[in-house]
Amino acid sequence: MVLDNLGSSLRGTLSKLQGKSRLSEEDVQEVVKEIQRSLLQADVDVALVMDLSDSIKQRALDEDPPAGTSARDHVLRIVYEEMTDLIGESTKLPLEPQTILLAGLQGSGKTTSAAKMAWWFSKKGLRPAVIQTDTFRPGAYDQAKQMCERAEVEFYGDPDADDPVEIAREGLEQTSERDVHIVDTAGRHALEEDLISEIEEINTVVDPDTSLLVLDAAIGQGAKDQAREFENSIGINGVVITKLDGTAKGGGALAAVNETDSTIAFLGTGETVQDIERFEPSGFISRLLG
Ligand code: GDP
Repeated sequence: MVLDNLGSSLRGTLSKLQGKSRLSEEDVQEVVKEIQRSLLQADVDVALVMDLSDSIKQRALDEDPPAGTSARDHVLRIVYEEMTDLIGESTKLPLEPQTILLAGLQGSGKTTSAAKMAWWFSKKGLRPAVIQTDTFRPGAYDQAKQMCERAEVEFYGDPDADDPVEIAREGLEQTSERDVHIVDTAGRHALEEDLISEIEEINTVVDPDTSLLVLDAAIGQGAKDQAREFENSIGINGVVITKLDGTAKGGGALAAVNETDSTIAFLGTGETVQDIERFEPSGFISRLLG
């Protein structure tokens, strides 16, 4: 367990339990309070924090530490288990031919993530193509093209076309010899009806194996409504959290994970094509608690 990465006050509270073999109710209260503080600071939804702390509290009081396990390690294990239960393992993405659709609001990092994911699949020995259907944001075509050049992956887009559904259809046809297709879509500033109906049409044409919702790590309360809208319109199988190289810890995205009953697929950690990591629960949990 990665105690070193925890925030100093949580670490301090836990270290007070050192040497104890049983936890008192007060001990548990104190630990849970610290965890709540960290999670709320990391933008985790209040209702999720409350659910999580109830489960942790109950288990920490009900379950005796296994023989040879200190009270501190016992409570820490419960915290990680309960959080892993909520967050889940990383979204399953088999290393085989597949089509992935990216959804999200403008500026969330979709275009960047499309190129990064293509780079990631190419490093795994697959032959990906990015299809850029964003005709709404000026510069989206050039940005995607440049990033795909840097990633050395196939790119399809059409700066003169204005029908994203046609671009998606044409793009899949033109890149049919590639095995992984990553389809980037337009975002808007907010969830407008035309965005939803457009992505529904693209979804029908593309028929993706996996649809990922791209969220900025700084997203707060908005994550839940956004996730519900996309879940209802196209179905969401996973989340990509971007900009984790900044100060935001990405806890807001957990509301989206919960709302869509999905998991996290990738983390974006910078502006270049290599700045992508496959999600892994324990590092992310330590970060949230840190
Ligand atoms: P889109 O509108 O959803 O396609 O968003 P973009 O891919 O254009 O990203 C919006 C901005 O965020 C751009 O300036 C990107 O360089 C930046 N960005 C995207 N992902 C990351 C990331 O993981 N870290 C940082 N620092 N910036 C990112």
